[in-house]
Amino acid sequence: MSDRAVDADLVIAGATVHDGSGNPSYDADIGIDAGVITLIAPPHSLSGRTRVEGNGLVLAPGFIDVHTHDDLAAIARPQMIEKLSQGVTTVIVGNCGISAGAGVQTPGTTPPDPMNLLGAAEEFRYPDFASYRAGIDAARPAVNVAALVGHTALRSAHMDRFDRAATAEEIAAMRVDLVAALGAGAIGLSTGLAYANAHAAPTAEVQALAAVLAEAGGLYATHLRDETAGILDALDEAFAIGRRAASPVVVSHLKCAGAGNHGRSADVLAAIERAGAESPVGCDCYPYTASASTLDLKQVVPETPILITWSDPEPGQAGRMLSDIAADWGVDLLAAAVRLQPAGAVYHCMADRDVERILAHPATMIGTDGLPNDPRPHPRLWGAFPRVLGHYARDRGLFPLATAVRKMTGLSADRFRLAGRGYVREGHAADLVLFDPATVGDAATFEDPMQAARGIVGVWVNGMLSLDRGVATGARAGRFLPRAPHSTPAHLSHQETVQ
Ligand SMILES: [Zn+2]
Repeated sequence: MSDRAVDADLVIAGATVHDGSGNPSYDADIGIDAGVITLIAPPHSLSGRTRVEGNGLVLAPGFIDVHTHDDLAAIARPQMIEKLSQGVTTVIVGNCGISAGAGVQTPGTTPPDPMNLLGAAEEFRYPDFASYRAGIDAARPAVNVAALVGHTALRSAHMDRFDRAATAEEIAAMRVDLVAALGAGAIGLSTGLAYANAHAAPTAEVQALAAVLAEAGGLYATHLRDETAGILDALDEAFAIGRRAASPVVVSHLKCAGAGNHGRSADVLAAIERAGAESPVGCDCYPYTASASTLDLKQVVPETPILITWSDPEPGQAGRMLSDIAADWGVDLLAAAVRLQPAGAVYHCMADRDVERILAHPATMIGTDGLPNDPRPHPRLWGAFPRVLGHYARDRGLFPLATAVRKMTGLSADRFRLAGRGYVREGHAADLVLFDPATVGDAATFEDPMQAARGIVGVWVNGMLSLDRGVATGARAGRFLPRAPHSTPAHLSHQETVQ
């Protein structure tokens, strides 16, 4: 007599399922075959060749990190442990105008700031988006990768200098590249208009590029031209670009930066809601009151404590406060910053009440904005998702766990049109995370930032167990995720789309 037939290859049994919709949780057995969720059944009703006990644990869709700079890290270090260890199963790369699939850089040169955050010149070896996509496929990263095309990267491929608007010919060349990228599966266009190498681009330059998005179903993601005093005007610019292009807008790492802007999050969110009444608008946020990027002279002000994370000419100053360095050198902050450049910095520039208000808004998704090449990274790289689950949802009670999971999964998949991801549903990809709701939390700190999360029990990527009780299994089951076709239904609620 043969053994009783099993229901599925893998069964995760009896866990409390938060399915990504934001609806109340339920207890269930989840059956998985060939990388797909095939069965959702009452607890302890399924048998599987492999069985994982989920009693007392939460099972959620794998987290989607909607704001990353993992373009080249996913190829250079495909284990992606800093993301897997948080429960992340998909990263969206190409944010803030910088991406790796729009042209080669000359080896030995420095890629234009802030593309230097992504990697060294010799790593930018993909002449076009299709070759970048092939590079991801060849690297087989441990998490799925979806990609935006960066405006600054397009500028870098077609312009000899960045302190001016692109000419009509240059815009035409950038459009050709963008159309080809969208055809090869890119999910949209990103800009980083606050950065010096994109700031001279007028709205019209971005509009001319964004005009090709709608036909391909792409979206427009933007690191605003101004995240400080001029944020409302910068938002208006972003909304106008989206409306004219008939494309959804994602405002990247929404924040109110600089002491003079603390408390303005209510006005900023109201502006997003007003714009959202006319066309789809969303935003992402990382759960910290400090930002991080390259060292930017515009942000060097006495009110903002700045930690230097790396410096090419002054490597010995990494890990010190800019104010201490300036005092040692007997110069002012700006002079010290100039001497440190190129450099990386953490800016303690936000108020917790603004971060909380933005995190809690229904249109807000979670992203890390982690900088994987920073030798002393902002702790968001390792800690953003567990910090939302532990500190903000459980400990601060900012929103229910179901809402926290929604902001990391279903909302993100719908907004970025990642078909078959972001939900625990039959027929969806088996990207899953099992965690302990009582202990989940971030361990990474500004002093000791490369620390894995607590409470993440198991992570499956396309059905493969990739993290087992905090230890990477070595599985590298991620895939390149192309933009879904127009026909894919979205499940955004009225408040989330605000449209
Ligand atoms: Zn950015």
